[in-house]
Amino acid sequence: MKITFCGAAETVTGSCHLVETNGLKILLDCGFFQGSREVSSRNRSEFPFDPAQIDYVLLSHAHLDHVGRIPLLTKEGFHGEVITTPPTAAIAKVILADSAHIQVEEAAYRARKARRRGEEAQPPLYDMGDVLDSLDAFHHQVLYDQPTILGDGVEATFHDAGHILGSSTIELKAEGKTLLFSGDLGNRHQPIVRDPSDPPHADIVLVESTYGDRCHRSLDDSVYELKEAVHTVIGRGGNLLIPSFALERTQEVLYELFAMWKQNKLPKCKIFLDSPLAIATTRIFARYPGYFDKEGKEVFGSSPNPFSFPLLRYTQTTEESKRINAIPEGNIIIAGSGMCTGGRIIHHLRHNLWKEDAGVIFVGFQARGTIGRQIIEGAKRVNIFGEETVVQAQVWTVNGFSAHADQPILINWLKKADAKKIFLVHGEKESLEGLKDAIEEKLAIDAHVAMWKESVTV
Ligand code: ZN
Repeated sequence: MKITFCGAAETVTGSCHLVETNGLKILLDCGFFQGSREVSSRNRSEFPFDPAQIDYVLLSHAHLDHVGRIPLLTKEGFHGEVITTPPTAAIAKVILADSAHIQVEEAAYRARKARRRGEEAQPPLYDMGDVLDSLDAFHHQVLYDQPTILGDGVEATFHDAGHILGSSTIELKAEGKTLLFSGDLGNRHQPIVRDPSDPPHADIVLVESTYGDRCHRSLDDSVYELKEAVHTVIGRGGNLLIPSFALERTQEVLYELFAMWKQNKLPKCKIFLDSPLAIATTRIFARYPGYFDKEGKEVFGSSPNPFSFPLLRYTQTTEESKRINAIPEGNIIIAGSGMCTGGRIIHHLRHNLWKEDAGVIFVGFQARGTIGRQIIEGAKRVNIFGEETVVQAQVWTVNGFSAHADQPILINWLKKADAKKIFLVHGEKESLEGLKDAIEEKLAIDAHVAMWKESVTV
C-alpha cells in the first residue's frame, strides 16, 4: 500500500491523500488550499497524479478544504466515483457552487486590474459548469458503519467523526491491513452533531492535527464569553460581528443565541445571518435531523427554534446586506467567511473595525496569512480592499466552539485505534510537532509528520 500526501501536509488546508492498493487509486478528500498566497497558489499547481486514473474519492466531509478541488479533478479527467454520506453530498453541492461563484467574481476583479496594467489575467480555477460536471460523480452515498466494496479485497467504511453534519472518519481495508483516516475529528459536547464515534483498530492512521498542541477551554467558558461580548457591545450600541463558517459553526452560534433569547438573556437587538451560503446550509441541516444528537433533535423539532425565532433575520440579497449598514447600530451580524478571507464579513469589518464601540468575536480557527489571524494576533491595522483600516473594535477569541478535537481527545482516539504507525496531517508546524511529541510520549507509537508530496509505502 502506497500513500502520497497531496495536501494538508505541513499545513491545514488542501486535504488530499492518494492511496494506491490492489490496483486501485483512491483519494482521501480533494480539498482546496486556503490562507496565505503561497498556500493558496498550490490550487493552481498540477495534481501530483493523473486525475484520469483515480478510481474513487472517499470524501470525509463537505468543508471546502476537503472537497474544493473535486471540480478541478473532474475538469482534468477524473471519471470515477465520489463516495460519501448523504448530508456531505448535499452540503458539498452548495459549498462547491459557492466556491465557483467566488472564483468567477475574483477572476473578474483580477481581469479588471490586469487590463489596466495591460496584462493577461488568470482565469477562475473552475466555474459553475465545472461544478455541475463534477456532481455526477456524487451518486454513491453510504451510511455510517456499513462497509462498501471498492474492488477486489478493498473495502471502505465511514464512521461518524462528530465534526460537522455528515462528517466521517474513513476505514480502508486492503492487503490484510486497515488504514484509518481521521478526516476532521470533532470536539466533545458540540451542540447538534453527535460526539466522534470510537475508532476501529487500525494498523496505519492518518490523523488531523489542527489543535494537536493544545487543550480547548470548555464550551461553557466560550458560551460565557459570547454572552459577555453580546452584552458589552450591544450594551454600548455597537455592532458585534461574528465571522463564522457557514457550515456547523453558524448553526451552533444560532443555537447559543437562541438559548440566550429563550432565557430572556439577550439584549434588544437584531441578529442578521448575512450569508447566502449559511442560509443554504442551514436549510440542509433541517433536512437531516436523523444525524443530530438527542438534544439537537429536541431543540430543532419545536417552534420557535434556533433557525427561526423573532430576532433572527436572513439577509439573502446584496441589497438586504447593504441595508444593514444603514440601520441604527447595536446588532449582531453573523457573516462569512469564517477566516475573513472573503465574503460579506469583509464589508462589515470595513464598516465596523475602526469603531471603538464595535466588537468582533472569533469563534473558529484562523489560518496563518488570513485577516482573521492578523486581528486575533493583535494587529493595529489591517488591509481591507487595499485600504489600511485601524483595529479599534474590541476583539474576543473563543476556541471552545471548536469543531475540532484538541490534544486530549486526539490522544484518546488514537489510543483506541491502537495503531502501529501514525502519520500526522492537517496542522500547522507547532500543532503537528506538539501532537507528535504527545503521541510518542503518551502512546509510545512512532509518529511521522507527513510532508507535502511525500510518498510512503506501508
Ligand atoms: Zn472540517
